[in-house]
Amino acid sequence: VANTVKKENLISPRQRLDGLRSLIKRAAIDAERNPADIELICVSKTQSEDRIKELLEMGERAFGENRVQEAQKKWSGLKRDYDVSLHLIGPLQSNKAEDAVALFDVIETVDRPKIAEAIAKAMVKLGRRPKLYIEVNTGNEPQKAGVPPSQVDEFIVFCHRHCGLEIEGLMCIPPQGEQSAPHFALLAQIARRNGIKKLSMGMSADFDIAIQMGATSVRIGTALFGPR
Ligand SMILES: *Cc1c(COP(=O)(O)O)cnc(C)c1O
Repeated sequence: VANTVKKENLISPRQRLDGLRSLIKRAAIDAERNPADIELICVSKTQSEDRIKELLEMGERAFGENRVQEAQKKWSGLKRDYDVSLHLIGPLQSNKAEDAVALFDVIETVDRPKIAEAIAKAMVKLGRRPKLYIEVNTGNEPQKAGVPPSQVDEFIVFCHRHCGLEIEGLMCIPPQGEQSAPHFALLAQIARRNGIKKLSMGMSADFDIAIQMGATSVRIGTALFGPR
């Protein structure tokens, strides 16, 4: 195995990033959108600090992690050296809310009253206000995190009135093996009727479709770092 050369290793991180950036730009232009309106979130879960540093050195400043503890380990030092925007894109437990508020700049996975309350409390205590997105379970999948589409409007009001939280965006992860487009369309529709501006949708396999349907940020891991 040691001398097997994997094809993806022949492409440098710079080439991968440039390739991805040009695909994002192309998708934006095809959709008659300004490429500058689409933020690339580099999904660095499971990746080493060295691989992350390569992207930081190439100028990337928005990163996504799905576990609070892993992110604390990797990012406490890096965040001192680089002015990054760190996004939590994995499920949050209420006993980790304070750690999450302390570390992350955007929490994309607010999905139940208990979490909203814990975040609100932590914000007051720490005097820090990360931006908040609600995760929507657009496929109504029983095993998946996120608010069912039918309950999002009510949950936004709860966050606002009961917790004093402003919801800046919505995020979704479409079901495996289904077309993503209807899920992105549903997320965009829920955002529109609630006056929400940010849409975090699209990953390595479907970011072009997401951009076509209004994504303001795409969360990309594999296409940047190679397979995990
Ligand atoms: C891992 C992950 C991604 C990135 O997925 P890729 O297919 O590797 O681009 C995006 N969003 C979330 C929530 C993830 O957990």
